[in-house]
Amino acid sequence: MLRNIGGSMRSLTRSNQHFQKASGKLPLGVSSNFRYWGDDRTIYVKRGKGARIWDIDDNEYIDYRLAYGPVILGYADPRVDEAARRGMEVGGVFALSTELEFDVASRISKMVPAAELVRFSNSGTEAVMAALRIARAFTGKDGHIAVEGGYHGVFTELLWQTELDDWRPSMGEPELQPYGDGVPAVTEELFYSVPLNDANVAEDVLKRYHDDIGAFLIEPIMGNCCGITAEKQYLRDIRELCDRYDVALIVDEVKTGFRVARGGVQELFGFRADLCTFAKAIGNGYPIAAVAGLDDLMRNVGDGVVHGGTFTGHSVSLAAADKTLEILDETDALQTIENYGLELQRGLSRILEGRDIAHSFTGAPALMGLFFAERPPADYREWIDSDYEFYDTLAPKLHDLGILVEPDSREPWFLCEAHSHGCLDETLDKFEKAVDLTIQKMSNDA
Ligand code: PMP
Repeated sequence: MLRNIGGSMRSLTRSNQHFQKASGKLPLGVSSNFRYWGDDRTIYVKRGKGARIWDIDDNEYIDYRLAYGPVILGYADPRVDEAARRGMEVGGVFALSTELEFDVASRISKMVPAAELVRFSNSGTEAVMAALRIARAFTGKDGHIAVEGGYHGVFTELLWQTELDDWRPSMGEPELQPYGDGVPAVTEELFYSVPLNDANVAEDVLKRYHDDIGAFLIEPIMGNCCGITAEKQYLRDIRELCDRYDVALIVDEVKTGFRVARGGVQELFGFRADLCTFAKAIGNGYPIAAVAGLDDLMRNVGDGVVHGGTFTGHSVSLAAADKTLEILDETDALQTIENYGLELQRGLSRILEGRDIAHSFTGAPALMGLFFAERPPADYREWIDSDYEFYDTLAPKLHDLGILVEPDSREPWFLCEAHSHGCLDETLDKFEKAVDLTIQKMSNDA
């Protein structure tokens, strides 16, 4: 299939062929459900470098997905890859520890004050599972609160969500649903859902159920929900409620950590977690995660709470993390990303304002939501008031032109240091074309 979009050709012939082959061996032809974009739109990657990726049809894209966040410096960053090669020489995993674990843990503690003690995991999911277990052990209570629109990984206890696709406020409270089949109904009993930025609801839930609730999980910039952002006062209120009701506050920084500020969202908003989880940006794409927190909670690990994993503390990932965190901590990489993000936002606004298209941004420049509404939503329920149809029509046009953003308007844009190397004008030029094609398509369809 060869498509001529705004003067640019994109063929997905090889990807389409590979999809047919791959789906005979891998469900949906991919290794994560979220990578399946439809039988004829699923892309297979040949390689990535800097802020760009190339697919197997040799289409080139400026990437604003960045693997959902891990790539903070750029793909195949030579500084990190060289460190990873040194890590390879160490030998991988040993069912024993290496000295570098202490160095990387110390760097994390320096950057994030609440991370007094650290344990490494391999994925965000594993880190959040561990945090939840530690919170339960510390408080003696098994239930947990999570914020509507948040996502904390693919594990049973947290695979519950408020489904809003067909919901309207007149229908009353939205229903809590499992993320799919195979999630045992019994785990719903542990799960309490509250909307972001309404401390009164959280207080009501805690007043009634505090004997059962041991953890409050929050992503203060919702990295899986358009970057909808917590108000500082809300975070202060939640902190106070957790202290009052003996609940461990778990700040899930899997996406925000080492991205929105050196000390993550906790530094950005000036508050402190009891436990926090990291993954993604720690290693610029090498698989490593961490659960961290205050000494008195984390000491439960090894004193009743089990934590482990064959691949934890892998020498390649640790070496990559050591170098990535050093760069983030000691250079102005995050400032470069922020500057690029602000310029990008100004450019996108100029284009949209020129066409009278209401829009707003959420989150932080390094992890930003683009909304087609004048005011950004305060919580997930308000997302339905934005013109997400415009976004959903725009995204495939951007893909065809070589700008990769998430097709679902609920996933924010991610930026990396390498975007500052010559991506801005091209992005804005293509964005402008895509907006015009979207306007045209929507008026044709109307
Ligand atoms: N927490 C958050 C906030 C996430 O964004 C994700 C992944 N998108 C996870 C946890 C799970 O991480 P992983 O995919 O590495 O298991």
